[in-house]
Amino acid sequence: MTRTSRIEIDAAAVAHNAAVFRGVLGGQTGLGAVVKADAYGHGLLTLLPALHPLVDALYVITSADALAIRAWETRVGRAPVPVLVLGVIEADEVVALARAGVRVVLGDPGWRAWIPPLRGAGLQLGVDVHIDSGLGREGFLPESVRAALDGVAEASDVLDVVGVMTHFADTEDVTEQTYALRQLREFDRGVAEVEALVGRAGLQRHTAASAPTLVLPDARREVVRVGIAFYGLWPSRETRISTLLVRGELPRLDPVLSWRVESQLVKDLPAGSFVGYGCTHRCTHDTRIAVLPVGYYDGYPRSVSHRAHVLVAGRRCAVLGRVMMNHIIVDVTDVPWAGPTVVATLLGRDGGEEVSADDLAGWAGTINYEIVARLGSHLPRVLVAGAERVG
Ligand SMILES: *Cc1c(COP(=O)(O)O)cnc(C)c1O
Repeated sequence: MTRTSRIEIDAAAVAHNAAVFRGVLGGQTGLGAVVKADAYGHGLLTLLPALHPLVDALYVITSADALAIRAWETRVGRAPVPVLVLGVIEADEVVALARAGVRVVLGDPGWRAWIPPLRGAGLQLGVDVHIDSGLGREGFLPESVRAALDGVAEASDVLDVVGVMTHFADTEDVTEQTYALRQLREFDRGVAEVEALVGRAGLQRHTAASAPTLVLPDARREVVRVGIAFYGLWPSRETRISTLLVRGELPRLDPVLSWRVESQLVKDLPAGSFVGYGCTHRCTHDTRIAVLPVGYYDGYPRSVSHRAHVLVAGRRCAVLGRVMMNHIIVDVTDVPWAGPTVVATLLGRDGGEEVSADDLAGWAGTINYEIVARLGSHLPRVLVAGAERVG
């Protein structure tokens, strides 16, 4: 097999993070996990065995992911959990989704096209209405609910409205939640409209992603949609500070993902040698380098060139020169080396050192969400029972 980097998913970290959120929610509110974008790059099918038993609901963007979860449940003989598709639904997908018992979000005018195929198949689809309370993305403004959903009650033979949701715009970049509280008031207005329209109260309400779940108790409602924090990553620095302020203590989140690679070769370059494209790095002294078969194709951002380090044998080793499509070169001069290869940690812990997704995001000028979501889907992912030792 071609040597490539690999991603380790730590089942113990998943369980720890789930327990943290169960503690925060205190038994009143359901714990849902957002597993869109291939479980934030962690690998949906790799993660499911660890995650599925711990949650009350799963949230995805695509119908394909929802059906993949159902197929996995059947394969391993596990009872289905509620699965909700947050993303756009095509009319030719609704029959398969209804048959699989998957719920979908009704948040754009496309829903009217779902009715004929569902009637044709004699199936009912569970739907959650999306209220746009101020994000300006999917959903209906509270004042437009009545017109946008006109006819939904008459379609109750095929569309079963079971939930109502919204999504916050500005909970991560702030330490006060003025805008979010305004959104909650708008949401409540929208919920009343939906309940009047379908002639039923007590719909399942869900509004809170990771940050509002931690810092805005009133946002929790019947179930929460925790994404990034389930993977052991903080939504932002502001969320950490707010959580400490609101809760009086900072829960420990354990990063679920480690990313490691075995070197392609290790060699000694004499002082004065150049390293990498553009000859942007020149060795000022005799330097032992390790060539690692990983690059921006795999999701290691080119923008971290000249800034990043990796870990080898528990030591920080600088990335020399530019990140290339399939290679990076690191300085292992100070690493005790018995040969023939070294194992480098690109993300995760090695000995007493750690490279976090926040570190990599900081060097790249982006956020941890983008770092993990862009890890190449071609990379092998393995579930491990606890943090693996390296070196
Ligand atoms: C991505 C997403 C979430 C999860 O957000 P995190 O900040 O990762 O917790 C929740 N709800 C919706 C609608 C989303 O798109």
